[in-house]
Amino acid sequence: MPIPPIETIKWFSLLLAALLLTSFGTTFPNRLNQYRSPRPHNGVRLFNECLARSQLAFFNYFLAIAITAPLQNHPNTKMFLLPIAVMSAFFYMGSIAASVELDVRLREFHGCPVQGTSAGACAHTVGIWEFTKMSYRYVFSTLLLTILAIYFAFVAGS
Ligand SMILES: [Zn+2]
Repeated sequence: MPIPPIETIKWFSLLLAALLLTSFGTTFPNRLNQYRSPRPHNGVRLFNECLARSQLAFFNYFLAIAITAPLQNHPNTKMFLLPIAVMSAFFYMGSIAASVELDVRLREFHGCPVQGTSAGACAHTVGIWEFTKMSYRYVFSTLLLTILAIYFAFVAGS
């Protein structure tokens, strides 16, 4: 496999660092909160919250490429960067709005007593189908942004 150009590697590294940082920024406070007052189904909720917050990192990423990458060979592609950055911001807002309602969804799915209970008091295990129903919108939007991010990393390097 040929090694991608240095510019592409640079953008990949930036994206990876931003994603790791947002994941850490979501997971670390969650660890402390879980220790103090545990919530049931923390795994699936944290997974979706990490995906939701990562979309802000994509916003930064696309904005940074739009501002700093010259893309002389791709003047038409460059025009798409700002709309895509705006789309990332909308995805972020939509996902965050949806993620604060995850407990409502859990209640719909299996009558989960999410609020007002202590120490993960729900005995129900979230199965693969329930997990899919809860996560598909986050996975889909994050996947779309990831594909676009990889595409633009290669465009910036060519
Ligand atoms: Zn439950």
